Amino acid sequence: MAKIKEFASQAAPEDIIGYSFYCVGCKFTHPVHTKVGSHNGSQWGWNGSMDKPTFTPSVLVQYPWGEERKPMVCHSFVTDGMIEFLADCTHEFAGKTVELPEFKWDDYDDEY
Ligand SMILES: [Zn+2]
Repeated sequence: MAKIKEFASQAAPEDIIGYSFYCVGCKFTHPVHTKVGSHNGSQWGWNGSMDKPTFTPSVLVQYPWGEERKPMVCHSFVTDGMIEFLADCTHEFAGKTVELPEFKWDDYDDEY
């Protein structure tokens, strides 16, 4: 049961550069770049498992939300297929650890 889905470089579709997971806190996917750095240079380690993924270090996602552009924070550790949301998350899962859901959105485009 895969909890993450690979994504490719836009310049080279055969080149897998990272993996996305579905975040139950934000209710959309977060991409984690494991090969070449992302636009801001960040790159994560990955344990090679699709079913029980571990990414290091922590994943920090910040984005504006809604018409009022409310600043949102999602900060987590993904370890052995579990996601630990840190206390600085702005969503309801702050401080909680839950199992990552199975990734089943083949055409999910809204990545942050
Ligand atoms: Zn999130």
